[in-house]
This record gives sequence, C-alpha cells and structure tokens, in this order.
Amino acid sequence: LKIGTPKETFDGEARVAMTPASAKDLQKLGHECVIETGAGAAAGFSDAQYKDAGVTVAKTAAALWKASDVVAKVRAPSEAEVKRLREGQTLISFFNPAGNKDLMDAAAQKGSTVIAMDMVPRISRAQKMDALSSMANIAGYRAVIEAGNNFGRFFTGQVTAAGKVPPAKVLVVGAGVAGLAAIGTSTSLGAITYAFDVRPEVAEQVESMGAEFVFLDFDEEQQDGSATGGYAAVSSPEFTAAQLAKFRELAPDIDIVICTALIPNREAPELWTPDMVASMKPGSVIIDLAAEKGGNCKMTVMDQKIVTDNGVTIIGYTDFPSRMAAQASTLYATNIRHMMTDLTPEKDGVINHNMEDDVIRGATIAHAKEVTFPPPPPKIA
Ligand code: NAD
Repeated sequence: LKIGTPKETFDGEARVAMTPASAKDLQKLGHECVIETGAGAAAGFSDAQYKDAGVTVAKTAAALWKASDVVAKVRAPSEAEVKRLREGQTLISFFNPAGNKDLMDAAAQKGSTVIAMDMVPRISRAQKMDALSSMANIAGYRAVIEAGNNFGRFFTGQVTAAGKVPPAKVLVVGAGVAGLAAIGTSTSLGAITYAFDVRPEVAEQVESMGAEFVFLDFDEEQQDGSATGGYAAVSSPEFTAAQLAKFRELAPDIDIVICTALIPNREAPELWTPDMVASMKPGSVIIDLAAEKGGNCKMTVMDQKIVTDNGVTIIGYTDFPSRMAAQASTLYATNIRHMMTDLTPEKDGVINHNMEDDVIRGATIAHAKEVTFPPPPPKIA
C-alpha cells in the first residue's frame, strides 16, 4: 500500500510524520512511500533526502491525499483535510477525539479508518507507539532549555576569577513523563533540582535522577494522590493547602519552576499562585507546560511569554516538540512506523486492521463507517 505524509497545515507546526529513515523501514514492510513536497523542510529533511530514501514526492497536498492509501500526519486533521478523506483510506495522526467529535463523525461517515496516536493504550507492549510519551519527553527537555535561555545565568555553580556563581535552583512540579525529562535535563546542567508529585511512588525515581523530592507536612497515609493507570487524582482541599504552603515557602528561593502537573480530562490544577510569583526574585523563570489546560499558574498566557512587574518571566508555549522538530519528527515517525508494523503483520504491504488487538482497537476511533471511540478498556495491562 501507499503511505503518504502531507505537509502539516497547522500554523507554525514544524514536525513531519515521515522521515527518510522511517520511510526506508516502511518500505521494508512492503509499502510504498509518498511525501508532499516541502513537508520535511521545517524539520530539516529535504525532498532530495526523501527521494534518496526511495520516496515519491507529490507536488501538491491534493495529489498526496489522492495517491495515499494510508495518510500519516502529526496534528489532528483540519476540516479541509477531513474533506479530502475517502472511503477505505486510513488516517493516522494525533486527533483529540473527545474534543474533535465533529471531525471524527465526518471521517467515520466517509468510511475512512482513523487511528488516533493519542489514544494508543499506555500498556507495556505499546510503549514503542506511545507518541504522547515521546512528545512529552521532548517538551520536558525543551522546557528546561527554554528556561535556561530566559534565565540569563548559569545552571551550575562556579567559582571563577571573576566571582563565585551560585547554582540555580529548579523546581519541577509534576514528575510524569515530561517532568522526569525536565528533572534529568536540569540535573545534568548542574542545577539544584527539586521535584514534587502527588504520586509518592515517583519519589524514588526523582531521587535516582539526582533531584530532591519535596515531602509535605501531611499525614503520609493520606498523601497518596494516585488514581488508576499511573495518573493523578484530584487532591483533597487539605492536601492542596499543604502543597501550596510548601510551595509558598520555597518560592522566594527558587529560580526556575517547570510546571507539568495534569489530571486526565480536567483543567490543570492551580499550583503556582500569583502571591508565589510575586515573592520570586527578578529574573526567575516559570515554564508552564500545563498552559493548554489552563496552566498550573493562572498568570500563564497560552502560547506567550510575559514578564511580570517584579521581573518574573512566565512562558506558556504549547509547541515545545515542534521547537525541536528534527528530534520530534524522528521519534514520532518511529512511533508511526511501529504502528504500521503492527498493522502489517505479514510484512507484505497488506494492512490487517485487527480490531481484536487491544492496541489497534484502543487507538481506532473510526472504522467501517462507525465511530469506535471511546474504546472498551484494554484487557491486559
Ligand atoms: P500527566 O501528563 O497526566 O500528568 C503529569 C504529572 O502531573 C503526573 O505525574 C501527575 O501525577 C502529576 N500531578 C497531577 N496533579 C498534581 C499536583 N497537584 N501536584 C503535583 N503533581 C501533580 O502524566 P503522564 O506524564 O502522562 O504520566 C502519567 C503516568 O503514566 C505515569 O505514571 C507514567 O509512568 C505512566 N506512563 C506509562 C506508560 C506505559 O506504561 N506505556 C507510558 C507513559 C506513561
């Protein structure tokens, strides 16, 4: 079958869902690859590199969509892209099905199959296709780089002929995939790094990465904020009060805060309040990776950088993976290639869309003219 990747149409999106390397692997599965001209340019992949990898270059988006049996892209499709879908065609992309119901309905009505990369179940077997994690990892890393770029000082302490420089102090709020990547980056740059999460089981991971887990003055029995599947539950008011009291105590001494705390299907919890921002030193930086969900700091403005009256920079960018487009495209294209491997069990260029397979079933949101979202819970963990 022909697998095609169009140029992303979302404003500013620099990632691409197929790289020359992933195209070579897709061809080993018996597929042919097509790319829209210029689709990889913003991520550093030229048409010539794709051609060298055996990929056909389509001159327009229309030609690409027409030629492809499977369209693999990064962002959820636009309305115009859903209009291009046709019966029997498969689309693989992020989708946010709960938030894009109309697009999902339209795709199902057309008789196309849609695989949402953000719906891949987070079970061990599916880790190689877990694009949410590969992108969160990049966001966590890039958040620290962005913080450093805006901080104007070293992360690591230094004793130089021109004076002694204290190490930066970084607090990472939320130690999921993005938070752990931020912690690893921060400690490797030499900052004194603190981290907090409502799930106490991550304390060990945090400490093994060279950071200090922030414990609260709270009855340990009640401190467990875990819900199912490794996600967080909404904290009790008492727990939140203890958490905020601790953060208030730390705020004047912290140079950089990386906020990553999220609770599935909810607005981001408010954890870094305006009085904490007001008590921070001028030149401090907050990177709010929860900005898309309202932010862990309510002063965050989505997709913008602001500087407060007391000189604290607050960054609410939501496109950190796209800001590292070469790396993000390489990992995302690999996630897609693994999905295609599972969809092509015989490596003969023929897709077997096996709805009995937990991973394929979980990620499929439209199939055989039906909306197949939400999926039943996976049978194996
Ligand atoms: P997420 O993006 O939903 O949340 C980020 C972090 O914020 C979580 O660690 C959460 O506990 C934390 N948080 C929520 N409320 C908070 C608060 N009030 N204060 C501080 N922290 C708060 O989470 P994620 O990064 O997607 O990861 C969630 C879990 O899924 C983790 O346990 C991770 O190990 C697991 N996971 C498993 C797989 C797999 O097995 N394939 C893949 C990816 C992630």
